[in-house]
Amino acid sequence: MIDIAIIGAGPAGMSAAIYARRAGLSVTVFEGEMCGGQMAYTPEVENYPGFAHISGAELSFSMRHQMVSLGAELVEVPVTAVTAKGGYSVTAGGEVYTAKALIVANGAKRRKLGIPGEDAYGGRGVSYCAVCDGMFFKGKTVAVVGGGNTALEDALYLAGICEKVYLIHRRDTFRAQQLFVDKVQAAENIEILYSTVPTEVRGEARVNALCVQGADGERVLDVAAVFVAVGLSPENEMFAGLVELADGYIRAGDDTHTSRAGVFAAGDTRTKTLRQIITAAADGAMAATEAEKYVRTV
Ligand SMILES: Cc1cc2nc3c(=O)[nH]c(=O)nc-3n(C[C@H](O)[C@H](O)[C@H](O)COP(=O)(O)OP(=O)(O)OC[C@H]3O[C@@H](n4cnc5c(N)ncnc54)[C@H](O)[C@@H]3O)c2cc1C
Repeated sequence: MIDIAIIGAGPAGMSAAIYARRAGLSVTVFEGEMCGGQMAYTPEVENYPGFAHISGAELSFSMRHQMVSLGAELVEVPVTAVTAKGGYSVTAGGEVYTAKALIVANGAKRRKLGIPGEDAYGGRGVSYCAVCDGMFFKGKTVAVVGGGNTALEDALYLAGICEKVYLIHRRDTFRAQQLFVDKVQAAENIEILYSTVPTEVRGEARVNALCVQGADGERVLDVAAVFVAVGLSPENEMFAGLVELADGYIRAGDDTHTSRAGVFAAGDTRTKTLRQIITAAADGAMAATEAEKYVRTV
């Protein structure tokens, strides 16, 4: 019986593992894709205290190293089921692990546009990660869809690689930090299409156009790629019978307690107003501390 099972090795899960190991508890962390989560895909992090500039990949690697050095067991397969029976049973890679307490730190996934062609051209020009796929479109014209910090960061990143970037936003003002707004407005190779929505991704073997609808009518943009940056959605169906959800997020306050004793929710997966690396890491610390108190009582 493990003391704490942690689902997800983003900043929330890794911070929880570090705190739990330092409290002397046995910890198994399950990670289905890549340690670091969304952070690993962030080109440059400039708001994590202590680092004026650090790549998300480097920060992820440091956290992973710290977590594993402290003795957390890392199981790099996705969790496919969780049940509450004599503790919490976690199924991953065909094995069942049982823990006294569970910390859910599974983050959130990028939201889709839901337009024709998006799924058909997934991996063939439609991307949800500029920093992962941008280099494939070096010197080409691409589109970024969205109007928040991530979309603007992606547009700026791609402007450094691609010939031209269309930035397509459905409103007439951005919902992003002014610093990013100023930079995209000043960039010579970013064309901003305000009050415009994408309607269809077109192509042959790969993407070659994005149809958009603006106030002045429809346009067909010749692009080699469409980068989608329209926000996040939680993936908590697996936990629906276990804990209370709200709009798909796990209902939990800053103390990370869920509706079920022994289950804690940390990071982007829980109901909260600011989803960032530092708030995810803070949640992880809190969840491990609360889980420790719980484990000592069972
Ligand atoms: C492009 C981009 C840029 C960003 N820039 C910044 C920034 O500059 N500064 C900042 O503070 N924040 C930034 N953020 C936000 C920040 O990255 C997130 O708020 C933070 O990573 C959330 O951490 P988390 O641990 O809660 O979740 P995540 O980072 O989403 O990690 C969750 C982990 O859980 C894993 N997982 C999910 N389901 C399962 C399962 N069933 N089994 C096993 N593992 C599972 C996932 O694979 C993932 O690794 C950015 C986000 C994006 C997408």
